[in-house]
Amino acid sequence: MTSARQTTLKSAISCNGIGLHSGERASMTLRPATTNTGVLFERTDLVNGARLFRARYDQVADTFLCTTLTNASGATLSTVEHVMAALSGLGVDNVVVEVHGPELPIMDGSAEAFVFLIECAGIVELAAPRRSVRVLREVEVGEGGKRATLRPSPLRSIACEIVYDNPRIARQRAGFVMTPETFRNEVARARTFGLMEEVEGLRAHGLALGGSLDNAVVVQGDRVLNEGGLRFHNEFARHKVLDAVGDLALAGAPIVGAFEGHCSGHALNVRLLKALFADEDAWCWDPAPMPVWQHAEPLAATA
Ligand SMILES: [Zn+2]
Repeated sequence: MTSARQTTLKSAISCNGIGLHSGERASMTLRPATTNTGVLFERTDLVNGARLFRARYDQVADTFLCTTLTNASGATLSTVEHVMAALSGLGVDNVVVEVHGPELPIMDGSAEAFVFLIECAGIVELAAPRRSVRVLREVEVGEGGKRATLRPSPLRSIACEIVYDNPRIARQRAGFVMTPETFRNEVARARTFGLMEEVEGLRAHGLALGGSLDNAVVVQGDRVLNEGGLRFHNEFARHKVLDAVGDLALAGAPIVGAFEGHCSGHALNVRLLKALFADEDAWCWDPAPMPVWQHAEPLAATA
């Protein structure tokens, strides 16, 4: 994060695409928002309280295939992770994301289109200072060989390693000190991916109906089926970094610390945030909230 002040968009901007799950048309509008709004999703096809979804780790309903938010009305909104990554990666703190329907457009399976939209709209600073979540001690969650860790660091870094029982993906790693430039140039274009046999299984269950070679890298054996191949030699690991940027943005503020994921995914990343915020000695606000005594009467001059 380079800015010491909160930011929002200069103007509203929209895009259309298809939903990964339904395969139906999905549209999205990013709108400027005031200080301390954070990222607020609004489903324009619903009414009253059911419309609004706060982009926070404690509002995550499901992490199977994608990150799904819920609200007190029980409504859901799916596939928020790549928009979250683009907003966080470029340092946009406050925005209202309008969506007509139950899921965001998948675009090309990366965050590139969302980065393009945000840059077209432009980013402006607001008057209020930005608050970050500073990691004070190591927090780790894991299960069955998967692991996600946050450690104290003055920088915001994200590293991911994956190990696949597939010769084309195999073991790969990507890690970056995250700045808007790094996110845009090294991370945003990495697409989501799957194995052909998984895709067939999902289709058979009526899932990922919108999934295609237009919005995912599909691997069969040692072959990448997409025309044009990969965008980076380690595109798979870079997409895990992209997902982690989006998942960590569900903290509600930028996290200053070092994230390391080993075969981690949305579910474990969200559990990591829960573990971080459950331990009040593991993090603090930076800058710290104004102590109450600063608002008190000035000390009387000593005689
Ligand atoms: Zn993803």
